[in-house]
Amino acid sequence: MARFDRRAVILGLGAAAVGGASLAGAGAAPAYEDPDAMYAALRGQPGQQLKIGGGTINLVFADGAPGLARAPVLAWVRTAAMALTAYFGRSPVSDYGLLVIVEPGDRVGHATTFGYAGSATRIHVGVDAGPAAFDRDWVLVHEMVHTALPDLPRRALWLQEGNATYVEPIARALIGQLPPEEVWKEAVAGMAKGNPHAGDQGMDGTRAWGRLYWGGALFWLLAEIGIYRDTNGARSLRDALRRVNRMSGGNTATWSPEQLMTAGDEAIGATSLSRLYKRFATRAVTTDLVELFGELGVVTASDGRLILDNRGALVKLRERVTSQ
Ligand SMILES: [Zn+2]
Repeated sequence: MARFDRRAVILGLGAAAVGGASLAGAGAAPAYEDPDAMYAALRGQPGQQLKIGGGTINLVFADGAPGLARAPVLAWVRTAAMALTAYFGRSPVSDYGLLVIVEPGDRVGHATTFGYAGSATRIHVGVDAGPAAFDRDWVLVHEMVHTALPDLPRRALWLQEGNATYVEPIARALIGQLPPEEVWKEAVAGMAKGNPHAGDQGMDGTRAWGRLYWGGALFWLLAEIGIYRDTNGARSLRDALRRVNRMSGGNTATWSPEQLMTAGDEAIGATSLSRLYKRFATRAVTTDLVELFGELGVVTASDGRLILDNRGALVKLRERVTSQ
């Protein structure tokens, strides 16, 4: 049950992050809130098998999802899976269950991902959600990224949320769903929330929303830069995460953070990840974001617009991050 508890924490934060879509039927216990009920629905209700990137998605519309148009949902799921395939080089898991639960409204609601009885996500979708809502959605790709890495102990939640937050827009950019400018605009706005405040300790065990999601994402951006520098541009974070994904088989496995960093480091032939993890886990590390984004050539103009320029020591890396 400990693992459900932890996912419940992610769910609460995820709901806040997407605007807190509420469930229908005030007072009634929401259906499929218990992950065992979700797994039972994925096994027992009629599903549709989608083959993408060498993996199989078992897509189930919970209770037939009355009123929800199928075609836009199918296109949305396919696109998200293609983004994951672009990032990880293939589907990150061989079998993935996706339970779509219809709710009132016109947007994608909250979602939670589990791994203890197979990689699976439960996601709420507004009955009136159209292609524009699906096109804008980041939640499904975020959840799918959670399936790619092994599950970690509770203290390392920031590594998991940070990874999904960091990889999601990049994966979408790789298939042309998000322009690189948007990826960096989100990073600039978000990572400002990720630095520690006075009195904060290391990242391990943190429960503060900004640090969990954006402090975690900043860690992975710094890992990207560390790998680039330590290997003179020969390897990337993508290489490390692909290796971790292949070795673990995704979120049905449980690893320690140290194991994850070692496996990633083996892929790049350096110790970039292990060293950075040690620094971040145990003490508060403040990053100069103006300097960091300046090196990446990500500049905020005086009128507030974001400009990608060609000056800065890490411009090549920035361009590579969002390229296939
Ligand atoms: Zn998440």
